[in-house]
Amino acid sequence: MKAMVYYGKGDIRFEERPKPVILEPTDAIIRLTKVTICGTDLGIWHGKNPEIERVAKEKTGSFNGRILGHEGVGVVEEVGLAVRRWKKGDKVIISCVSRCGKCENCQKQLYAHCQDKDGSWIMGYMIDGTHAEYVRTPFADNSLYPLPDDLDTDIAVLLSDALPTAHEIGVQYGGVRPGQTIAIVGAGPVGMGALLTAQLYTPAEIIVIDLDDNRLAMAKELGASKIINSGREDAVAEVMKFTDGRGVSCAMECVGYPATWDICQRIIKEGGHLANLGVHGQSVNFEIEKLWIKNLTITTGLVNTNTTGMLLKACCAHKLQPGKLATHHFKFSEMEEAYKVFKNAAEHKAMKVIIEY
Ligand SMILES: [Zn+2]
Ligand SMILES: [Zn+2]
Repeated sequence: MKAMVYYGKGDIRFEERPKPVILEPTDAIIRLTKVTICGTDLGIWHGKNPEIERVAKEKTGSFNGRILGHEGVGVVEEVGLAVRRWKKGDKVIISCVSRCGKCENCQKQLYAHCQDKDGSWIMGYMIDGTHAEYVRTPFADNSLYPLPDDLDTDIAVLLSDALPTAHEIGVQYGGVRPGQTIAIVGAGPVGMGALLTAQLYTPAEIIVIDLDDNRLAMAKELGASKIINSGREDAVAEVMKFTDGRGVSCAMECVGYPATWDICQRIIKEGGHLANLGVHGQSVNFEIEKLWIKNLTITTGLVNTNTTGMLLKACCAHKLQPGKLATHHFKFSEMEEAYKVFKNAAEHKAMKVIIEY
């Protein structure tokens, strides 16, 4: 089969690979029908995750590339002997997190940190992922969701990762409540997911901050009440002006840079929440000398995907309408082009690139 394979920093190849096989009785093999690329896939390509090679070499003595991707929908091709819930031909949404359901962390719904060797976020990371014709999904009974016939599949692929991450790590951890004024720093797919899922809780005002005018225009269209281009304006001063000098109840960091973290820690009011969603590659300056007195809650995390089922229902009922995030469509044979466009997202006005088979 064809697959997009990571070999090392800056080296990905769209090439022929063997079709995956069932390794554990709880596995399923899925034939993919639609996938999307995540910022995390780009991060791996850019060399942010050298542990991929290191762990493979520790375990097997060699590293023979890793198929990227942890988002997608498809059709069940084959199931292991212990799989009860699925059969060949079922249409499914693949969750980016695999959960054994039995370990200490799974019992606490902390699926992001499932302790099984095949648990947590491993697809397209520690095992081969979805940017291929077929993928092996561990713990199929717990980690796949039924794909309803009437759900737009562009929306369904957002349920693998982008929407649950935004909702759980941004909106839920950020304690978003009716009537609040909140701020989202970073209007990429996850920031936009936070903008959409926050509205399920009816905050009064949502401020979105980014450097890209196209993304800010889209944020406005999707429900932001105020947009700030932090490249041209002093974002902190603008937020303070907009909130009569009070700041926001919740600031979501959706980028992962010291500068965006700084904006967040300077705009939260007392008793507020700073929810970090960004994947950080370096330390930030934590102004504890100013913040110690403010009764803040600061949260971080990897998605548990324990609200995927709820978000799926909200999408089916059209209470959550993320369809506009799917800005670009490619055929599977154009995978390399899709990666290039997503890598230069600003230039192409791209939000989520969708790959159809
Ligand atoms: Zn992702
Ligand atoms: Zn587990």
